[in-house]
Amino acid sequence: MHELSLAQSLVEQLLVLAAEQRATRVVRIRVRIEPLAGVVTDSFSFGFEAVKTISAVTRDAILELDCPPASYRCLACGRLSEHPLPPEIPCPGCGAKNRQLPTGGDQLLLLQVELEEQETDNGKTEPQPREVNSHV
Ligand SMILES: [Zn+2]
Repeated sequence: MHELSLAQSLVEQLLVLAAEQRATRVVRIRVRIEPLAGVVTDSFSFGFEAVKTISAVTRDAILELDCPPASYRCLACGRLSEHPLPPEIPCPGCGAKNRQLPTGGDQLLLLQVELEEQETDNGKTEPQPREVNSHV
């Protein structure tokens, strides 16, 4: 269960972040799963939903996934396309067949975390979106 351990390290990272920011709750997070990360998104979401219940801080966190598609590079001429070409279709750039390799990032990135802070002096608590860009 690769996805479950990723979800575990994500929740651990959120707890550290929340503690650093003196936040009481993680409201929402945005995670990018790059196309070659080898992560099954459904399993990852499922794992996160299970693991987040270990702490009241993360229990209600909403997970948003950002999953950009892979692009395909022709090994012969370097042409990039967004979708894989069926094997019988030659590369529009050079006519080579079966020379395409998927390209794209292979990381799982925590893009944004929205935290609910402890009550401030004026008694207001507002979720603060934070830009975070770190590997999980
Ligand atoms: Zn080509």
